[in-house]
Amino acid sequence: MESTQKFEVIIVGGGLAGLTSAIHLAQQGRSILLLEKDEFPRHKVCGEYISNEVLPYLQSLGVNPFAFGAKQISRLEISTPRNKKVYSNLPLGGFGISRYRLDYELYKKAKEEGCITKTELVTDVDFADDTFTVKTKKGNAYKAQFVLGSFGKRSNLDKKLDRDFIKKKSPYLGVKIHASGDFDETKVALHNFKGGYCGVSKVENDHINLCYISDYKSFKKYKSIKDFQEKVVFQNESLRAIFSNTSPVFEAPITISQISFDSKPRIENHMLMVGDAAGMIHPLCGNGMGMAISSAQLVSTLLQDFFNGKIKNRNQLEKMYLSNWNKRFQKRLFFGHKIASIFNSDFLTNLMWNFVRAFPFIIPMIIKNTHGKELPTA
Ligand SMILES: Cc1cc2nc3c(=O)[nH]c(=O)nc-3n(C[C@H](O)[C@H](O)[C@H](O)COP(=O)(O)OP(=O)(O)OC[C@H]3O[C@@H](n4cnc5c(N)ncnc54)[C@H](O)[C@@H]3O)c2cc1C
Repeated sequence: MESTQKFEVIIVGGGLAGLTSAIHLAQQGRSILLLEKDEFPRHKVCGEYISNEVLPYLQSLGVNPFAFGAKQISRLEISTPRNKKVYSNLPLGGFGISRYRLDYELYKKAKEEGCITKTELVTDVDFADDTFTVKTKKGNAYKAQFVLGSFGKRSNLDKKLDRDFIKKKSPYLGVKIHASGDFDETKVALHNFKGGYCGVSKVENDHINLCYISDYKSFKKYKSIKDFQEKVVFQNESLRAIFSNTSPVFEAPITISQISFDSKPRIENHMLMVGDAAGMIHPLCGNGMGMAISSAQLVSTLLQDFFNGKIKNRNQLEKMYLSNWNKRFQKRLFFGHKIASIFNSDFLTNLMWNFVRAFPFIIPMIIKNTHGKELPTA
């Protein structure tokens, strides 16, 4: 059993939400312990397109994605399952960087700022006498005044907390490949096929991210990813061309299943939830990473106000977190849920794409409704 040192904040999960909070709070002089189950660097299933709304904030924390190869992206191309194309500019734009690189750079920065990091799987978070006890699989127990739950879209802790969404089967599956070859680095493409879509954009090292999400029902009819791609994904001609003209740089695609967009409580037994652990937006909106970083900015600013005495007690902090979280993200999640539900029906999906083709000016409107304004700097 390790130390009885009490931290001001323990962060459970070192993805974008956890790492950004760790940097922000450590820079404010807080004592932070970050517990992440996996070693860095590691790949993640993700489209790796991040909205520019978080860029000034990241840069104010001393993290400049362009210093490690991010690609600036300003244009959007959509192709429908029937191979019709629509183009648009992206109102705020974004950048492409792999999670392998971005998360690792954030991790190194968090350590540099004095955050203590450990590779441990958290198995339990208890709250008693105004103190948290965080237990890990290695048999260690750590104490803190606050805990941030930044353990992502699906974790062993969701079961432990008996969260509703984890009790239901979720119909989505995600697959990611990095490839080398030609692709316009200023654009992100969303190529649709029956039951899903594939995002395509460039990241550092001139690699192309090919990441698709599909409903599990249509996927399981096929005997392998290769078979599924050949018979379903490649019905989209743009995807067939991209996959045939590029070479994969991973030995095999990486996959995740059971992706849920159900709503989740933002606070669990006084633990403040951030990023996907508080609510996940449909990846088609291209804003999950932005939301993870934005929620980290929100919770860190409120915790800073608590430690500086501007917020008087835990109860007030929790109330402010809930109301600010809802104000910032509720509308985006609502739109994201609507989009996810359209994708459950082929009829509605086709209707939606016909509508988008007829009125392409609605694309920037949809983007504005699923994204936020530029974040304040730290
Ligand atoms: C197919 C797909 C494509 C996507 N494409 C995009 C895109 O192009 N643009 C975009 O903005 N968003 C995209 N997203 C969404 C984006 O990936 C997420 O919103 C983002 O990763 C959320 O960050 P997070 O920090 O909340 O969670 P994560 O990045 O998932 O981090 C959670 C961390 O917690 C750790 N963890 C979990 N349980 C424990 C535990 N018990 N103990 C210790 N550690 C633990 C995990 O190992 C993980 O590192 C996509 C998502 C999917 C599924």
